Amino acid sequence: MISRADRIAENLRVVRGRMAEAARRAGRSPDDVRLVAVTKYVGAEDARDLIAAGCRELGESRPQQLWRKAAVLETAGVLWHLIGHLQRNKVARTLPLVSLVHSGDSLRLLEALDAETALAKGDRLPVLLEVNVSGDTAKHGFKPGELGPLADRLAMLPRIEIKGLMAMAGREGDLDEARREFAALRRLRDELRPAWAGRWSLDELSMGMSGDYEVAIEEGATLVRVGTALFEGLE
Ligand SMILES: *Cc1c(COP(=O)(O)O)cnc(C)c1O
Repeated sequence: MISRADRIAENLRVVRGRMAEAARRAGRSPDDVRLVAVTKYVGAEDARDLIAAGCRELGESRPQQLWRKAAVLETAGVLWHLIGHLQRNKVARTLPLVSLVHSGDSLRLLEALDAETALAKGDRLPVLLEVNVSGDTAKHGFKPGELGPLADRLAMLPRIEIKGLMAMAGREGDLDEARREFAALRRLRDELRPAWAGRWSLDELSMGMSGDYEVAIEEGATLVRVGTALFEGLE
């Protein structure tokens, strides 16, 4: 019987290996892609095993879950990523805990993050702009065409630092479609870059989950958000 901790460590090893292979296939350095381990399906104990196995960047999609795990795992030196929708009434409590907000999905939220960062920190909060690349109305995020005209508004929010873009593929299991959507996100980033240069470099592309992270890396992901694949085979 393999222990939960050993299984998690082995899953991590497999995911990291596949990430590195995907990077090499695309002629990229494996060091250019970071794993955000999504712990939303598991408790703090399993998250702790993941940290012990060498994973330092953890992601949660629900703020309350992030608060809870961050409290329990307080001393572990973890960098937390918020990857899901953030309601404005949860901004104040979430901000001090996170190293990167992937889900900057509306101007109102970004304004709230900017205002609250002023009170909380003094330095700038790294955020990604979430883009609804699939056009699925159930998904959060900016429409691709909205971002260009938004630059002047965003420039009025001095305490957030726009690090790049984030997206989710529209339909699970359709890798060709996922690849098209990831490529579209990268192209959008490349198009915005000249106008936004000097203010934000837009280096980060957060895209790819358990079912499609290798495709995402081939299309330029710098951050992949993987949950299920890390916790497979647990009793
Ligand atoms: C849950 C979640 C993930 C991880 O999904 P898996 O398929 O379990 O790897 C990634 N990104 C977001 C935004 C999520 O909500």
